[in-house]
Amino acid sequence: MEMQYKNLGKSGLQVSRLSLGSWLTFGKQISDDTAEALMTYAYEQGINFFDNAEIYARGKSEEVMGAILKKKGWARDSYIVSSKAFFGIGGELPTQKGLSRKHLVEACEAALKRFQLDYLDLYYCHRPDKQTPIEETVWTMHQLIMQGKILYWGTSEWSAQEIMEAHMFAKQNHLIGPIVEQPEYNMFVRNKVEVEFSQIYKSVGLGTTIWSPLASGILSGKYNDQFPDGTRLGMDGLEWLKERNLTQERITAVLELGNLAKELGLSLPVMSLAWCLKNPNVSTVILGASKLQQLQENMQALGAQELLTPEIMQRIEDILQNKPEFPAY
Ligand code: NDP
Repeated sequence: MEMQYKNLGKSGLQVSRLSLGSWLTFGKQISDDTAEALMTYAYEQGINFFDNAEIYARGKSEEVMGAILKKKGWARDSYIVSSKAFFGIGGELPTQKGLSRKHLVEACEAALKRFQLDYLDLYYCHRPDKQTPIEETVWTMHQLIMQGKILYWGTSEWSAQEIMEAHMFAKQNHLIGPIVEQPEYNMFVRNKVEVEFSQIYKSVGLGTTIWSPLASGILSGKYNDQFPDGTRLGMDGLEWLKERNLTQERITAVLELGNLAKELGLSLPVMSLAWCLKNPNVSTVILGASKLQQLQENMQALGAQELLTPEIMQRIEDILQNKPEFPAY
């Protein structure tokens, strides 16, 4: 099915509804050749957004992606590339992370060097920084835009209140505010996207680039009855991720979801990704893949959306039993 595009929030930036991220894969779990095969396939299928961050493989993910972009020679106006600042690249000193003007400016400069690019299309504040006044962060992002180093900015895992604070300050001072938030969103993690942000989609025109749509692979069904080798949740140092994601409760739901997917003639990852795409407040679903075959499979989610009729969506709700409640006003 042909790629679909959507404006990122109220901005003029049109992003493909499926995009490709590099967390844990580029510069770490997979070879540079595999990374190139993933990006090439994605680009050829109409994916125009590649997501990255300073902390991914401590800067190496940006280097690998930048080298591929250079090698492929794709027109600079044909793709969107992002980075994110907050976690630093491993330095522990207080000036080496966070959302201060100092770190944001230095991190942006360093990301551009690693990517070998003149500007980033999207620059995210990877987490809120309780130690830096929001005014300083908004001013800095605005200035980076004025300097031509970034084109748009956004937030990741900020609360609706923090996003609104940034908007209020930007508005009062005629500065450019954030256009997008990058939250986790999948069948198990729903509250922010479905409830917390529901007002601000309308008021500020928030776009969303959602992460871990398969809950780090659990929604592929491959952890159901055994622990497969060579997968993310078996990687050294990621015990915390395994603990957080791989619970018996989730596996029970995944087994039932798998049966429903089979009934529809879909694979479970494809059904799970299509479910994310069905949410009109999701601008793009960021895919992760360690193998080309996964990406090829996952791209079928675009065409699978039409099979998720209201009746099927209700059956999914009945399995999940986790629809977030709107507060009673
Ligand atoms: P997913 O939840 O979709 O997990 C992707 C992983 O699941 C793959 O790397 C692969 O891991 C496995 N997988 C994917 N497809 C299949 C398939 N068809 N069959 C079997 N296994 C499959 O997404 P990510 O967690 O990777 O998140 C996507 C992107 O979001 C990241 O790359 C990053 O850009 C962004 N992100 C942003 C965060 C933020 O704080 N802003 C945080 C996390 C991610 P394996 O083969 O190793 O099992």
